[in-house]
Amino acid sequence: MSILPRRLERIKSVLNCRMQNLTVLIEDVNKPHNLSAILRTCDAAGVFEANFISKTNAVKTFNSTAQGSQKWVRLNNHEKTIMAISDLKNKGFKLYGTTLNSESADYRNFDYCQNTCFVLGAEKWGLSNELISMVDQSIFIPMRGMVQSLNVSVAASILLFEAIRQRKDKGILPTSGEGLNIDEYHKTLFEWCYPELALIYKKSAKEYPKLNDQGEFDPIENN
Ligand code: SAM
Repeated sequence: MSILPRRLERIKSVLNCRMQNLTVLIEDVNKPHNLSAILRTCDAAGVFEANFISKTNAVKTFNSTAQGSQKWVRLNNHEKTIMAISDLKNKGFKLYGTTLNSESADYRNFDYCQNTCFVLGAEKWGLSNELISMVDQSIFIPMRGMVQSLNVSVAASILLFEAIRQRKDKGILPTSGEGLNIDEYHKTLFEWCYPELALIYKKSAKEYPKLNDQGEFDPIENN
């Protein structure tokens, strides 16, 4: 089995810049254009996986704003806030809740070079009090206009690209796959190169085959 060299090169160049230590937790953002825009920004910034909590169990939908980015950024679904938080904290993430309350601090005062998760709230209500009480730090983007808040996807972009700026300044932005653990890198490379086959392997609970430098593999070897 093989993949076109240009396609393989493109996939590798994107995967090489992905980071497992930068993410977002999105709470109840259900408008397709907002969710799509956040995922598109995650893709552009190099976020490997995003997190989502939906208390209403609404089905997530994406529209053309996503430009297919939902295929390239994994979205972890969490049914309950407590489960999302403990999962992220176990992975060592510092949680920055985005709120406009009085305990919130200017987002420019923090260092986002280590494991960072920006927690984003619903269009109408913002973050739930439950979630606010569980974050490590509340932050806000200063506003100077008549309108009190930004669109949630705009806020996500500002914060993620601030993290990118800081990491670039420190010379720690990944360029050769060092932002992912090696197993995750190879697993994702296979899924991105051969998405339909990856589904078949998953269904039969088989391990993906290892790709060679040309992105080829021997299917027989894995039967
Ligand atoms: N009335 C809501 C509130 O008080 O939070 C406004 C929600 S706002 C439209 C939707 C989400 O966008 C917020 O929960 C937050 O995640 C993000 N957001 C919007 N403006 C922001 C700002 N200035 N600073 C930080 N986050 C912001």
